[in-house]
Amino acid sequence: MDPTQLAEHLRFYAELGVTGINRDPAWRARAGSTSTSNTQLPTPKEVTESGPPAAERVWTLQEIREDIGDCTRCKLHTLGRQQIVFGVGSPTADLMFVGEGPGADEDVQGVPFVGRAGQLLTKMIEAMGFTRDDVYIANVVKCRPPENRNPEPDEIASCEPFLFRQIDAIKPKVIVALGSFAAKTLLKTNEPISRLRGRVFDYHGAQLVPTFHPSFLLRSPNQKKYAWDDLKKVLTLMGRPVPSSPANADA
Ligand code: URA
Repeated sequence: MDPTQLAEHLRFYAELGVTGINRDPAWRARAGSTSTSNTQLPTPKEVTESGPPAAERVWTLQEIREDIGDCTRCKLHTLGRQQIVFGVGSPTADLMFVGEGPGADEDVQGVPFVGRAGQLLTKMIEAMGFTRDDVYIANVVKCRPPENRNPEPDEIASCEPFLFRQIDAIKPKVIVALGSFAAKTLLKTNEPISRLRGRVFDYHGAQLVPTFHPSFLLRSPNQKKYAWDDLKKVLTLMGRPVPSSPANADA
């Protein structure tokens, strides 16, 4: 391909919203794997206001955070959010957790999953034999919806490209979708979490395991055993030892 054709090709990709090209052959091979779900995988969209980045590179988490800036792309920035809650953990994590959106505690601290639900998530992570530093934790929307209401479709649409780009940057082997908003956003499905959990989906070369949201588990502790089954499945997918029951099962 001559340089003019190549430039035209890259411009075309940029218009489609392709923000970088991963040169890692293993990631490309994984990205082509067959889906076990019948859902259409979302294509990350262009979200920069200043035009596409130079081609032939993958965005780092820091660059994605800088691109978000002091975001005003959706109405959540006018509805009382204190700060953007981007994500936390290892930028090369094999395991990533995706929640719905920050609550009051997360909005104050700027860190996902630090309130009551977050404390339960931390216990779940530790029961698997990890620490929070070993994994990466992010949300579908990065700003707190007021009164802990659910994120609205336009808010999800504005924010989800950043989550997809975080996944592209981290390249986790397994993604745990916490609750219906995360599962539905990632899988582009309307199936309820009760039907999605217990299954494994191929997702952009990673494996995606939907499970119950820790807030739901706080309200319905008798469902914790199903979440633990899902997490054991995650450990098996990762080739890690599976404890018979979590040390903090009654936590
Ligand atoms: N619930 C979520 O979905 N995310 C958080 O960060 C906190 C609570």
